[in-house]
Amino acid sequence: MKSSLTRHILSLTLIFLFCKSETYAQSGDQILDGIGETGLIARYIFDGNAKDWSRNNLHATLQDNTETYVTDERFKNVLSLANENYLTLPKETLNGIESLTITTWIYLNAIEKNQYLFDFGSTDDSHFFATPKAKKTGEFGATLVKNAVSIAETTTSSPEVKKWIHIAIVIDFPSQSFNTYLDGELAATAQASNLDLSTIFNSDSNQLFIGKSLSAEETSLDALLHDFRIYRIPLRKNQVARIYQNASKTGESVVNERAEPEDNLPVFEDNVPQLYNQYLTSVADVTVETRVGQLPRLPRFVEGSYKLPIEAPQVRVLWPAPVDNSSVLKPGTYEVTGRVAGTNFEPKATVIVKDKDASSTPKRTIEPFKLEEVSLNVNSLGQNSKFIENRDKFINTLIETNPDSFLYMFRNAFGQEQPDGAKPLGVWDTQETKLRGHATGHYLTAIAQAYASTTYDKKLHQKFEDKMNYMVNILYDLSQLSGKPESTDGSFVSDPAAVPTGTGKSSYNSDLSETGIRTDYWNWGLGYISAYPPDQFIMLENGAKYGGQENQVWAPYYTLHKILAGLIDVYEVGGNEKALKVAEGMAEWVHTRLSKLPAETLITMWNTYIAGEFGGINESLAHLYRITGKPDYLKTAQLFDNIKVFYGDAEHAHGLAKNVDTYRGLHANQHIPQIMGALELYRNSESPEYYNIADNFWYKTKNDYMYSIGGVAGARNPANAECFVAQPATLYENGLSAGGQNETCGTYNMLKLTRGLFFYKQQPELMDYYERAMYNQILASVAEDSPANTYHIPLRPGSKKQFSNADMSGFTCCNGTALESSTKLQNSIYFKSIDNKALFVNLFVPSTLNWTEKNVTIKQETAFPHKDHSKLTIKGKGKFNINIRIPGWAKTGVELKINGKIQNISIEPGTYLKVDRKWKNGDTIELKMPFRFHLDPIMDQENIASLFYGPVLLAAQESEPRTDFRKITLDASDLGKTITGNPEELEFKIDGTVFKPFYETYDRHSVYLDVTLK
Ligand SMILES: [Zn+2]
Repeated sequence: MKSSLTRHILSLTLIFLFCKSETYAQSGDQILDGIGETGLIARYIFDGNAKDWSRNNLHATLQDNTETYVTDERFKNVLSLANENYLTLPKETLNGIESLTITTWIYLNAIEKNQYLFDFGSTDDSHFFATPKAKKTGEFGATLVKNAVSIAETTTSSPEVKKWIHIAIVIDFPSQSFNTYLDGELAATAQASNLDLSTIFNSDSNQLFIGKSLSAEETSLDALLHDFRIYRIPLRKNQVARIYQNASKTGESVVNERAEPEDNLPVFEDNVPQLYNQYLTSVADVTVETRVGQLPRLPRFVEGSYKLPIEAPQVRVLWPAPVDNSSVLKPGTYEVTGRVAGTNFEPKATVIVKDKDASSTPKRTIEPFKLEEVSLNVNSLGQNSKFIENRDKFINTLIETNPDSFLYMFRNAFGQEQPDGAKPLGVWDTQETKLRGHATGHYLTAIAQAYASTTYDKKLHQKFEDKMNYMVNILYDLSQLSGKPESTDGSFVSDPAAVPTGTGKSSYNSDLSETGIRTDYWNWGLGYISAYPPDQFIMLENGAKYGGQENQVWAPYYTLHKILAGLIDVYEVGGNEKALKVAEGMAEWVHTRLSKLPAETLITMWNTYIAGEFGGINESLAHLYRITGKPDYLKTAQLFDNIKVFYGDAEHAHGLAKNVDTYRGLHANQHIPQIMGALELYRNSESPEYYNIADNFWYKTKNDYMYSIGGVAGARNPANAECFVAQPATLYENGLSAGGQNETCGTYNMLKLTRGLFFYKQQPELMDYYERAMYNQILASVAEDSPANTYHIPLRPGSKKQFSNADMSGFTCCNGTALESSTKLQNSIYFKSIDNKALFVNLFVPSTLNWTEKNVTIKQETAFPHKDHSKLTIKGKGKFNINIRIPGWAKTGVELKINGKIQNISIEPGTYLKVDRKWKNGDTIELKMPFRFHLDPIMDQENIASLFYGPVLLAAQESEPRTDFRKITLDASDLGKTITGNPEELEFKIDGTVFKPFYETYDRHSVYLDVTLK
């Protein structure tokens, strides 16, 4: 009782913190009517045009533009479809979907047979349609037809004419159900079998019509339409009702409303045994020290005793998560009570708050090797490792890309001619997409990394160098145009703070259409470079929100971060001075503008959803300071401090710097790069708060927000697949969003932060996390036969990965970071100390390290994870110590041999084993780390767990969708007892179900299982 009361109070607090009441009608903001925008495929408001208001830019086309929009009392300006007028949607709109929801407001002028509200499909024989008056019954009907056979059908009472009604049709793939709602109420439901949309929609041949059937002879719709939406998730009853109610109340949708979680995951009774917790007999209390002002770091795992003859894992304790530091403002002692999922245990933590003393934060003593110093090899069985497979998929496609595609929108912004054959990119870099240019930044980083990594192939190496130089030359030439007269006596504005509005425009606007875009670069201020004019930056200062309209923006500093990071990477790997000049010019532009703004304006900007998302631009600017020594760049980096998250408030009362979780419920990948920026600021400013922010964030995120594959986003409360859950350590209660989890770019950034922290403090748990997320998400995010890759990776039972961008022609954020991840896979296998006295072996990957400063080569031969051992051979000689990671999962039987001799030493899992000696040419080190099965449970519902074999997550291979978790029973004292299979192939069976590594799973899977121990 007590704990549920606590939770209730916490959720009230949350509403206070995050429930924004402002309504921005028709903005494509993060949460619309309580539903995260990642669930939305397209939204057509129809208030004067047929544009898609979602970020996907799937604009509809009207066949006849004459007098199509009419004034309406209720919804102001609406679309009128009559006289055989209809709309077509882009073919790719329904690509790769499993579930689908269509909602719309409709006002029927007349009801006649053969009218179609919409008809979507690839052929007359396989399509999904809705008709106000069904052919057979004469009622409102929605039908799904496959191969000329109806596989699901609902009919409802016929809607009234001359009246607005709200219609929602839901295809729920996991439960194989088909529902129709009228005015927010369920009106008809049907069960289907073989409900599989991939056999109905086909991106090459789809025809998607609103107001007309696929067979041309049918009569068109005679109706008014408003707010037609397409979702890729099956909306639940209360979500449909909310859309209807919000619009009924105010005539508008409600943006940024954070609704209650959707109860569509299995609910477990209190008496369901939760793994090892059912055998618990006691849980240890703990004592923790902290300093005044700093919330204590309570151990997430403590010792427990079990009535089992085995060594069971440590006990996961769920501690309360205060929203400020009021409990530690004075020296003294206080007690915190925790709980253990599925039990009545209430472990106590005694917290001793000590007077302030000089805290010390670590120095950076470790650094990575250069990419060209580490090469990947085939494994000891003569096969390509997963690292090589994925690298080659990317390198071989990247080499074929045309740089002119990645320069297209830059040239377009500066009003320049396109070279012959230049084609624009799709997805988030199209003409009118306000994020255009983002892929170019990722591309610059990727080709720089590819250049550095392809020393094994001179031709490839040279081609990547040519690509880099070409890209930088064009960007340099464009940036040199900004703020300078176009002709000798032309007018111009060189001051970035004085950029005027576009010619003939009364205000700044973000219109990027061919006819609307401004190209007066002479007015843009010196140094300006982007794939669009400066307006978005200026509009954000003036309070613009996120969305697709001319008065809205999409994360200008996010895109700029990618570009700056790319230019810096090109400079660092190849010494291209022009790249540095372009980056510096733009950094000065940003400094000039932002240094003039009051702090309150900056706080407002960086806390504006998505519009104010700035990636890790603080990292790039601090990095630029490190390269150039120019203090303005460091000052500018600090202007991006996320005050609320870092410090709680403007007075720096608490925040992450004092170990308060200030980011619960926030957009995950909006914030992770900011933390990486804090770490880079610590490197350059040595202000300890920045280190504490990064260190506290990592510990909390890894322990309280991480799914078993290593991803950290995916809330169903708040209802957004890209958000952290509303309260820490509630992944089951608030996570596992229906729209997917584990946004892949978020994990890319977590890895970057993780290794960054290791350079300061060599905590083995950092590289344990690194290995987990590398194998089970990053390597698992790439398609089988191409570099197509994932956005979210869904972990609900029976899910399937969706891959996109096989030909690198259109990028989302995650397609962008995938280019980067897969061109630097070797970058964390080895690290060294800055004084060159120590080597760190972090990952077991067949590879060769050339340690230039020591004139030593180290070859690692292994078939890990197909084999559980690895051998290092040293060529050259010298005195240095080698620190070998002993993985946390290698609980027993670890063995070390030096030059073939077993070392009689005790080896602890979850440590680095240090071997210090004078190495001779030909010396060998062999490490054996036996794999065993282990479970990784969700902290607040421990019977839901993932099965690992050593570092490898094993996914159940599913043949069908499912709504429940696959049940398995394992032996409590020996998990492997009932698991059969072949360890070297990493393929196992439990009760007839096949389990394979998640990184080799391309079909339907269950990563989480409902596990019973016996
Ligand atoms: Zn992403």
